[in-house]
Amino acid sequence: MPGALSRLPAGGKTVALTFDACGGKGGNAYDEALIAFLRRRSVPATLFINSRWIDENPSVFKELAADPLFEMANHGTRHLPLSVSGRSAYRIPGTRNAGEVFDEVSGNRAKLTGLLGHPPRFFRSGTAYCDDVAARIVTDLGERFASFDVNSDGGATFTPAQVHQAMQDVRPGSVVIGHMNHPHGGTARGMSGAVPQLLDQGYEFVRLSDAVKA
Ligand SMILES: [Zn+2]
Repeated sequence: MPGALSRLPAGGKTVALTFDACGGKGGNAYDEALIAFLRRRSVPATLFINSRWIDENPSVFKELAADPLFEMANHGTRHLPLSVSGRSAYRIPGTRNAGEVFDEVSGNRAKLTGLLGHPPRFFRSGTAYCDDVAARIVTDLGERFASFDVNSDGGATFTPAQVHQAMQDVRPGSVVIGHMNHPHGGTARGMSGAVPQLLDQGYEFVRLSDAVKA
C-alpha cells in the first residue's frame, strides 16, 4: 500500500502503541482500565477514534484529547474498509468509489479538526483495510495511512494471555494495533503484563507524530 506506515522509521528501540475506538453498535464502550494503566506508567499512545465513538463519548474524548500522553488520530466516519471498488474486509462491505473514500476520511477529519483545533495526521480505516487508490486519496487529503506490524488483541477478541503472547513479537520500530473500546476483552490486562516487560528491556514508547516527521 503506497505511503502506508506499518513500522516506525529506523532509529532506537522505539515502539508505537495504537488503540482503536471503532464506535457503532457494540463498539462504543470505553476501556478505562487500559487508559488508566497507560497514565500510571506514563506510556504514550496514539488513539484512532471513529466519529460515532466521539458522538457517544464526548466528555471522555475531550479528556483524552487534553492529555499530552495521547495523540488523537482518524478512525473514519462510518468505520468502513477503504476501497474504490466496494471490496469487503472481515465481512464489512467497503466504500464503493472515490467519493465514498473521500467522505469516510474527510467527515471525521473535519470533526477532529474542529475538536482539536488542528487536523489529525494519521488515518486508519475500519478493519485497517485499504486499497492502493484509496491510500492515495488519504495522502491527498493530508493524512498518512497507519497500518501495523503487531496485532496485539485480534480485534479485541484475545484473552490477556494471548495479548501478552502477541506482544512478544514487538521489535524496535514496531507499530502495535489494539483496541480501547472493549473493556471486557483482554487488552488492558494483557498490556499491563507485557508493557512493563518491554520497558525493562529498554524499549521506549512514542506517539506516531513523535517518530514520524511531518
Ligand atoms: Zn476499528
